[in-house]
Amino acid sequence: MSMHNERGMSRSLVRWAQRRLLTHYGQPEWEAQYAPVDELIGTILSQHTSDVNSLRAFEALTRAFSGWEVVRDAPLDQLTETIRCGGLASVKALRIQAVLRALTDNDGRVHLPDLRRMRRKRAIDLLTSLPGVGRKTAACALLFGSHVPAMPVDTHVHRISNRLGLVETKEPDETEKELTRKVPRRYWLELNEVFVRFGQTTCKPLGPRCDVCTLRPVCKYYREVVSPKRGKLDKPKLGGVSRANI
Ligand code: SF4
Repeated sequence: MSMHNERGMSRSLVRWAQRRLLTHYGQPEWEAQYAPVDELIGTILSQHTSDVNSLRAFEALTRAFSGWEVVRDAPLDQLTETIRCGGLASVKALRIQAVLRALTDNDGRVHLPDLRRMRRKRAIDLLTSLPGVGRKTAACALLFGSHVPAMPVDTHVHRISNRLGLVETKEPDETEKELTRKVPRRYWLELNEVFVRFGQTTCKPLGPRCDVCTLRPVCKYYREVVSPKRGKLDKPKLGGVSRANI
């Protein structure tokens, strides 16, 4: 198969998997809930913890302080204590204050330039130049805070993309690059949403629930790892779907 055909196949496979999951989970409904700086700080709080804990920490933060300038200038101990329920509080408190200082303009106000008016690459460069902000945090701030197309690749998106054989990558940053090449921009948001839900409920890190999985007919991991372990090549019959007829 030529490189061109392989890429075409891979693109249709991504889109097919995405559509299949959308049928299962429904179209994600989404609208911007938070201002861009809020989204950025919220994403920092979400690092290495659950959504529930990070939301708790964000709410505690916005309840305790009247604005981002106040958070920036607060005693570190007070800030750490406020966000303790979000985990890794000391690291995150330091990181949040460093980001807020980096975003402080000449008038002393915390200000993030309008990312919608920038080229995507420039916006990503700006965000990743902030202390402790990696590509995933930058992509979340762009996508959810400013509605600029971006591809946040967390552990779910990275794991599922590799298991399905959509990409062959070691690091989430590589997965992001591959997926942004293979998936049209208009689908980036829904791909992130459905893969995260799918990763939380079915394609879990340990013990993926392959027996009930709607993507089993095309899954590389199932074909190469799970099925051989069961001692026979399982030929799933889910509507007669296989990689060959996508
Ligand atoms: S078949 Fe198993 S490994 Fe493959 S996508 Fe489904 S749950 Fe994940």
